[in-house]
Amino acid sequence: MSDSGRIDGRTKLLGLLATPIGHSLSPAMHNMSLKKLGLNYVYMAFEVGNRELTDVVTGMRALQIRGFNVSMPNKTKILPLLDDLSPAARFAGAVNTVVNEKGKLIGHNTDGIGYMYALKEAGIDVVGKKMTIIGAGGAATAIAIQAALDGVAEISIFNNNDEFFERAVHNARIINEEMKDLQCKATAYTLEDESTFKAEIASSDILTNATGVGMKPLENSCLIPDPTCLRSDLIVSDIVYIPRKTKMLEMAESAGCQTINGLGMMLHQGAKAFEIWTGQKMPVEYVKQQMFSNI
Ligand code: NAD
Repeated sequence: MSDSGRIDGRTKLLGLLATPIGHSLSPAMHNMSLKKLGLNYVYMAFEVGNRELTDVVTGMRALQIRGFNVSMPNKTKILPLLDDLSPAARFAGAVNTVVNEKGKLIGHNTDGIGYMYALKEAGIDVVGKKMTIIGAGGAATAIAIQAALDGVAEISIFNNNDEFFERAVHNARIINEEMKDLQCKATAYTLEDESTFKAEIASSDILTNATGVGMKPLENSCLIPDPTCLRSDLIVSDIVYIPRKTKMLEMAESAGCQTINGLGMMLHQGAKAFEIWTGQKMPVEYVKQQMFSNI
């Protein structure tokens, strides 16, 4: 915003293209950060689905809009409309942030970056470690790809034998073949294979729930079969952040594990997008205090 706090002739536009959009926390998070830092941008939410996407992206180029977030259902559909992709976006096959660099639209995926940053913030060095990731949807895919990019040595991906299982197999293949220079080994398993699940957790350093199990309407569910799977030197993280302590994190805490919830991922995926657009660090602690002190 300008000094007077009002939009003026130099205000740059940022936004979000998604539907449904009314529940999104991104406008509040970005606008409060822009205001706090006195940056002359405004962030708006646009109700955009697949049908409108091409026209909207063409319009955004014409208007020289600085950047936007992309959420459901546009994260994959936007790929052919962009000029270039970051490695994370290319390997994940999905974009959540676009920046306009002198007329070129570059797609990024900051979901995995946000997750990995939250681990780093908790003092965890992932290089050379083994992770077990539950899930193969949008968030789990971004995390697995970023984990491989950031130096994790081995990833076991577990998914229910549902429509996402093929994606678990696909993600493992991308990591083993297309990202082979990074020498991360990935394997996909079905979550129904309980003995393998327990064995992989036993040999992992980090266990991550990247499904919605643990939040409403599954707030009383936990994908860990029993507490004996957990040991005190296992790091347990959940990307759910409402509630802050899921059943899985409760179980992990009782077993003496270090636990990390999904709030850090949520804040830092936004913070990375903010930095890509503005070149400035988001005031994350301020945002956390303003938006999340009561959950
Ligand atoms: P998605 O629909 O793309 O993927 C859903 C995943 O959950 C799939 O792997 C599916 O197999 C699995 N799943 C669904 N129901 C299950 C069940 N009953 N048992 C076991 N597995 C089940 O969704 P997404 O975009 O990847 O989001 C997943 C969750 O992560 C959501 O709850 C979302 O709110 C949360 N999320 C958090 C952040 C954050 O910043 N903390 C970011 C993105 C998503």
